[in-house]
Amino acid sequence: MASITMNHIVKQYGDGFPAVNDVSIDVADGEFMILVGPSGCGKSTLLRMIVGLEDITSGDMLIGDRRVNDLAPRDRNLAMVFQNYALYPHLTVYENIAFPLRLAGVSEAEVDRQVREASDTLELNEHLDRKPSNLSGGQRQRVAMGRAIVRNADAFLFDEPLSNLDAKLRGQMRTEIARLQKRLGITTVYVTHDQTEAMTLGDRVAVLKRGVLQQLATPRELYDNPGNLFVAGFIGSPPMNFLPATVEGTTLKLPFGEIELPAERAERAAGRGLLIAGIRPESFAEASAPHAREVSDANTFDATIDVVEWLGNETYAYLPFEAPPEVLQQLQQLEQELDGEVVRTQLVVTLDGASEVKSGDTVKIWVDAAKVHLFDPATSESLTVDLAKAGKIPGLADTVS
Ligand code: ATP
Repeated sequence: MASITMNHIVKQYGDGFPAVNDVSIDVADGEFMILVGPSGCGKSTLLRMIVGLEDITSGDMLIGDRRVNDLAPRDRNLAMVFQNYALYPHLTVYENIAFPLRLAGVSEAEVDRQVREASDTLELNEHLDRKPSNLSGGQRQRVAMGRAIVRNADAFLFDEPLSNLDAKLRGQMRTEIARLQKRLGITTVYVTHDQTEAMTLGDRVAVLKRGVLQQLATPRELYDNPGNLFVAGFIGSPPMNFLPATVEGTTLKLPFGEIELPAERAERAAGRGLLIAGIRPESFAEASAPHAREVSDANTFDATIDVVEWLGNETYAYLPFEAPPEVLQQLQQLEQELDGEVVRTQLVVTLDGASEVKSGDTVKIWVDAAKVHLFDPATSESLTVDLAKAGKIPGLADTVS
């Protein structure tokens, strides 16, 4: 096992396009690192540079303390677990796992020992004589991992391994990969465009946009302290609401009314003119809900509900609002960057599943003022992020203690 260090990595393709632009990420020994971002953000290119399938234009790639920029893929001792598992259909599970050992000319006794050890770990013992075509997607994935394990690789690299599976199997496989990675304690870099996979699997998550690292932090830090509008909109489902806002003193003015911010949240935003407030759907509640009532009588507003979606355990209520052109323009751009995940002129609030609100009702909504994020519409950077906790954010990185 080993750490992987990417130092100021740049990749320009033949046409000069910077697919990866000055990205620095340290993956600790044994860490599960996720590279996430929308299509074209450069995550696959970055993974391919780690494994050696793509030349590095500039910067240093280290595995452990060895610089590997000029090493052939076979000399890097990494195991790529492919999306289609790349298993040999005519070989049994046993022989599929044994394959790299046979190539290396390992003795029969040693092949048997290693295959059985891997199959014990991966719970494949009862499947060793079967062919891949008779296995479930999850079992095939485990065989592919078995082959990687016997190679005794320094790290596992996954490129969207679950993207072809249906939602249920994807959920199962996600849990399985997480469990195995923890059990094996092997350094892992995992590429996905799916924020749920990123949040549930990663020790840390690197969010990329157009080749540039936006934020590198634990899932919780990304969720609680997104450094800019892009990360805020990408992480979380349903996505964070973005609303036009101004702050005077500690009063936040939103299209629906005014709420009082905690002083430390208001400080950096006061008097800065038009801002974008970011509020997660779950930071709202019906004012009559017990947890809202206990906390505060303030920070409520009346709103008329346009659409209600009842999901059983919770309810999404949609409340339309109007926004000035500056904010609309910024949100439109964000919507394009996020492949359309921003809801531009409707507030989405998550209410209790027991709520009986209906379309057309006017309800009193409470907002948790301590969870309101504020962004500068000109730079899209957060004004409220807790820098000490937020992890690496380019441009702000030097100020993070
Ligand atoms: P996806 O999820 O769609 O695979 P990605 O985030 O993995 O996207 P990459 O495949 O790494 O993105 O591509 C990053 C950028 O580099 C894209 O804009 C892409 O068009 C460009 N690119 C990728 N491969 C090449 C190539 N061989 N020649 C030129 N440009 C390329």
